Amino acid sequence: MLVAPYIDAFNPPRRTLMGPGPSDVYPEVLAAQSRPTIGHLDPLFVGMMDELKGLIQYAFQTTNEMTLAVSAPGSAGMETCFVNLVEAGEKVIVCRNGVFGERMRQNVERVGAIAVVVDNEWGEAVNPSDVEAALKAHPDAKFLAFVHAETSTGALSDAKTLCALAKQYDCLSIVDAVTSLGGVELRVDEWGIDAIYSGSQKCLSCVPGLSPVSFSPAAVAKLKARKTPVQSWFLDQTLVMGYWSGTADNGAKRSYHHTAPVNALYALHESLRLLANEGLEAAWQRHADMHQVLRQGLEGLGLKFVVDEASRLPQLNAVYIPEGVDDGAVRTQLLESYNLEIGAGLGALAGKAWRIGLMGFGARRENVALCLKALEDVLN
Ligand code: PLP
Repeated sequence: MLVAPYIDAFNPPRRTLMGPGPSDVYPEVLAAQSRPTIGHLDPLFVGMMDELKGLIQYAFQTTNEMTLAVSAPGSAGMETCFVNLVEAGEKVIVCRNGVFGERMRQNVERVGAIAVVVDNEWGEAVNPSDVEAALKAHPDAKFLAFVHAETSTGALSDAKTLCALAKQYDCLSIVDAVTSLGGVELRVDEWGIDAIYSGSQKCLSCVPGLSPVSFSPAAVAKLKARKTPVQSWFLDQTLVMGYWSGTADNGAKRSYHHTAPVNALYALHESLRLLANEGLEAAWQRHADMHQVLRQGLEGLGLKFVVDEASRLPQLNAVYIPEGVDDGAVRTQLLESYNLEIGAGLGALAGKAWRIGLMGFGARRENVALCLKALEDVLN
């Protein structure tokens, strides 16, 4: 018999989260999550799921029937797109301008497909001319995959142009919107996006652990025409839809697939309800406005942005660490003295840049003011 450990309840401090995510969670969302757990097949819960689907459709600006939240973080949303749509031996053009484009490449290879990588420099947007050259050189490619908002660098790519190129060359588009959803303009139907995934913990300011996903009718047709079953049972959307909307291939109505993360889904419902109340366009504008205030302050402190102004994400501000400044010491002091988290550099920018997030509930004046004051104190 192991002796029962005596451990106090975990009681985290209230931090201000201004890193690459998770972002500050709306108080209303935290409150929603602590409401009583009910059964995931309870008629009241099922009614909430119907509303949630409509709210995800609004946030993505889509009428896609196959729209839901995967019960796992953004990485599972990414994997959902690749394992459902891409079959072994198929060719996928993958744009890589940071960490998450590289993860897409790994997903492609793990399903046994062929990745044709289009590289752009870290800190740059995906270059549509390079993509078009790859599409021309590989007429047998079936997909174009890219990251809309590259969280590792703060670069925003032109999803509208890239998806139009995908269509022109008969490819389905797979788009990572983990950091873009709710923070910058994103129009799934208008831009012709075929498969898209996001995360709950960035500009939605929800608790981490859920991934909104949507497939266009063309993506659904591709899924239904598969020659082999989806190798992941859990992520197989033809089965999951049986729970989400009763449209499983076997005709099952709201049947059990897996135990839904009931309370986390209350939280997502609340965060998307808040987004809908604010209005998408107002939320995009708020992120842009707060970015301008932060930018002025950071430049006033002599900090330089990694990404050119034209493709800079308002919600993820990557700035170079000034020469001679100890990266870890600064972030530790911000955390310990100001309860403020900013992000370290990732991949090629590790030790070279900080990533300051202005996401969702965090994109507000108090956060900008705190961050600028704290950085000024610590750097001087
Ligand atoms: N894609 C992008 C662009 C991300 O920023 C992240 C996480 O930061 C992911 C995918 C993976 O999401 P998660 O950490 O929720 O699994």
